[in-house]
Amino acid sequence: MQDRTDEIARRLDVDPRVLALVVGAPWRRASGVDSEPAGAAGSAAVDPAGERPVHGRVFVGVPSPSELRELDLPADGLRHFGLTPADLRAGGWTDADLRSAGIPVPGAEGTGRDGVEWFVAGEPAQLMLGLRPHGAPRLARAEPRWDGHIPGVEPVDVEDLPGLAGCTDPEAPAALAVRELRDGLLRRARRRLVHCPVCLRQVHRSNTTHGACHGCAGRWLGIVY
Ligand SMILES: [Zn+2]
Repeated sequence: MQDRTDEIARRLDVDPRVLALVVGAPWRRASGVDSEPAGAAGSAAVDPAGERPVHGRVFVGVPSPSELRELDLPADGLRHFGLTPADLRAGGWTDADLRSAGIPVPGAEGTGRDGVEWFVAGEPAQLMLGLRPHGAPRLARAEPRWDGHIPGVEPVDVEDLPGLAGCTDPEAPAALAVRELRDGLLRRARRRLVHCPVCLRQVHRSNTTHGACHGCAGRWLGIVY
């Protein structure tokens, strides 16, 4: 996994050594981020498939955004019909259509629907650093999530990161404020880690089967993911 620490430091206008000491390192790109941070406002509830009124029109293939509007169906609800963003794109949806519907754009790995670009640090993932097009960067705790069979992480307990731009002293007040924030998130992240009893490596407790990490569960318990 490529170390993006230098790139992030440049974008935050801070020395990579200060970033490493004050926040953490190395940073890699987050995969499987496609939702608003948990606990953030505005997670729209969508009726499950089957509870929608029948409109008496059948679409073959993927309906266009305007056809959906005609039917008064939220674009977001398409996911509940088993259509992936890639299906939608193949059906003629543009990336702008996907974005306006709040659906992640395929290929934009690590970018959430709110335009935040997320990076992750720690093994297993513990901290997440989000760079926004505008506004303060964000720091969060990494929580595992599964996108089908693909493991990913999502940011939770998201907090705005006090400015570090131009900071050269890891003991400066701004840096100390960042470290305090980081340490709080890390404490919460580490409370959720357990040791796999087989390989003895640390693993997030939600990524275990009978206490074993997924690798060991596959190898020693025959459980396939
Ligand atoms: Zn293990």
